Amino acid sequence: MPKLSRRAFASALPLGLLGGSLLGGGMIEGSSALAATQDTGKAPVSVTPLAQIRIGRFTVTALTDGYADMPYNYFPGRTAAEVEQAAVAQFTARASGVRFLFNQYLVEDGERRILIDAGAAGSIGQTGRLPQALAALGLQRDQIDAVIVTHMHQDHMGGLILGGKNNYPNAELYIDRRDVAHWIDPAKRNGAPDYLQTSFKMADEVVRLYPRLQAIDGEREIVPGVSIVDLTGHTPGHIGVRVEDGGQSLIMVSDMIFPVVHPGATDVFFLFEQDPAAAKAMRDRFFPRAASEGTLIAATHMPFPGLGRVVADRGQMRWQTADWALQN
Ligand SMILES: [Zn+2]
Repeated sequence: MPKLSRRAFASALPLGLLGGSLLGGGMIEGSSALAATQDTGKAPVSVTPLAQIRIGRFTVTALTDGYADMPYNYFPGRTAAEVEQAAVAQFTARASGVRFLFNQYLVEDGERRILIDAGAAGSIGQTGRLPQALAALGLQRDQIDAVIVTHMHQDHMGGLILGGKNNYPNAELYIDRRDVAHWIDPAKRNGAPDYLQTSFKMADEVVRLYPRLQAIDGEREIVPGVSIVDLTGHTPGHIGVRVEDGGQSLIMVSDMIFPVVHPGATDVFFLFEQDPAAAKAMRDRFFPRAASEGTLIAATHMPFPGLGRVVADRGQMRWQTADWALQN
C-alpha cells in the first residue's frame, strides 16, 4: 500500500486505537493477527501502539520508542523494598523493577509536524521503535519539521543521532539553553557518575550534528498554540510543552512524573536526578497546581499512552489515566 493511502486510511479511522500491523498490512493481516493471538501455541503479535487525541485544531499522537525496567534501588528517597511494595500495591510489580515506557508525542496542525523528544533508540532496554511508530502513520523522519527535546538525557535524545548521523535533517531542533550548557560542559562531565556519561557523549554529538539547534531561553512560543513551559528540576533546563487551542490544552511534562512513586510523594527521586532539591521543588510546585486545574498531562515514562491527570484524593495525590479512545 503506498504511503499516501496508508496516511489517508489512518485519517479515516476514528481517533483512538490505531494498530501498526493493521495500518501497514490492511484487514487481511489484521485478521491473521487475531487468529495468531487465538492460537495458544504462538506468541501474541506485537503491534506498534499509537494513540491520538485532539486538542483544538491540533492532533497529538502518542508514539512509543519502547520500554525498560528500572531496578527498585534506582529511586533515592525510598528503599528498594518500599518502592517494590508500592509497585505491588499498584499491581505493576515485576522482578526486574519499575517498567518505564518511553513515549514521544507528535503534534500536527495540518501544516507542521512537531515531535516532542526522540527516544532512547536502543541505548536503554527494549527501545528503538520510534521510526516504526512514525512509519505506521506513513511518516519518515525527514518529514518532521521540528523536534523539541525536553532535556538532554539519553532516553530523550538518542534517536536524534543514532548511527552517528542527523536523523531529522529537515527539523528545527529546540533545547533549553541551560541543558545544552550543562551537558556539553567538560567539567560537569568529569564530575558526573558513570550512568550519565552516555548522555554527555550524546549531547556533544547532538550539538555537532545539528547546526540548526536553537538553544532556547525560558518560556516561549514555538508556533502559535505550542509553547515551552519551564519545568527546571529534573535537569537544569528540563522543559515541558504546552499545546493549546480552542479552550483545550495538554502539557507534555516529560520526566516530571515517574510511575509507581509519583505523584503520591515529591521526596522520592530517580537516580539520574543530580539535584534532588531542585527536582523536589519542581514537583512541589507542579503537582498541586495540576490537581487543582485538572491539567491534561502527557508524561514520557507513564504507561502508554502516558495521558492522565494528577488527582487529589482526600489529600493524597494519585495518577488518573485519561480517557483517550473514542472520545471525540
Ligand atoms: Zn526520561
